[in-house]
Amino acid sequence: CGIVAIAGTETVANRLVDGLKRLEYRGYDSAGIAVRAGPRVERRRAQGKIVNLEAVMAEAPIDGLMGIAHTRWATHGQPNEINAHPHMSGKVAIVHNGIIENFRELRDELQADGRSFESETDSEVIAQLIDKNMNDGMDAVDAFEAALKKLSGAFAIAAIFADDTDLLIGARKGSPLVLGYGEGEMFLGSDAIALAPFTRDVTYLEEGDWVVLTPDSHDIRNVNGERVNRPRVQSAVNE
Ligand code: GLU
Repeated sequence: CGIVAIAGTETVANRLVDGLKRLEYRGYDSAGIAVRAGPRVERRRAQGKIVNLEAVMAEAPIDGLMGIAHTRWATHGQPNEINAHPHMSGKVAIVHNGIIENFRELRDELQADGRSFESETDSEVIAQLIDKNMNDGMDAVDAFEAALKKLSGAFAIAAIFADDTDLLIGARKGSPLVLGYGEGEMFLGSDAIALAPFTRDVTYLEEGDWVVLTPDSHDIRNVNGERVNRPRVQSAVNE
């Protein structure tokens, strides 16, 4: 339902939650964040309101300079904590808005390959596919792109990685995704309102676009993998 992501130079956990709060108006049944903390990605999730997530985070703090956050409106799988995003597999953590229409086939293939699934969501196949590709020897960018090509349906996705892969990668097809520019930081949001606490300097990604971010770089590619420039504009939303 809602996505916020930060490739930052300052701690991100509380800022991700601030971004999620801007998206509460859209409705949701659970919320979660994943943050890259040193070599690991750590995750906190909670059913229900964002205050429940904040309570979990207060009990078991996590923080780092790169992270993804999500408010979920369940389409596949119960609205519980196990099905809340982010979904993780191996080194990758993802958040997803929309529906992966071919998730059953993909899930069957991945299970036939010996993989077991933690959730009932359509979204988990995204994390599992990227992880499988990385296990097959691809780097994070190639693994993400190869996974993207297998997905049909509507999606906005953001992904982060454990270990030495200091990247935030996003993609959109059929669901909006906005890129935001900060001072030495980059943001992703499912709409400009989510980014209003951080920046109004944005690019509305176009259909089929995906983007590879570090805190100080952005590399936008189109559906064919070609590097493209997209207009950089001031969003009209007020802080
Ligand atoms: N289809 C996904 C799920 O049920 C994402 C739903 C959403 O957009 O929040 O988990």
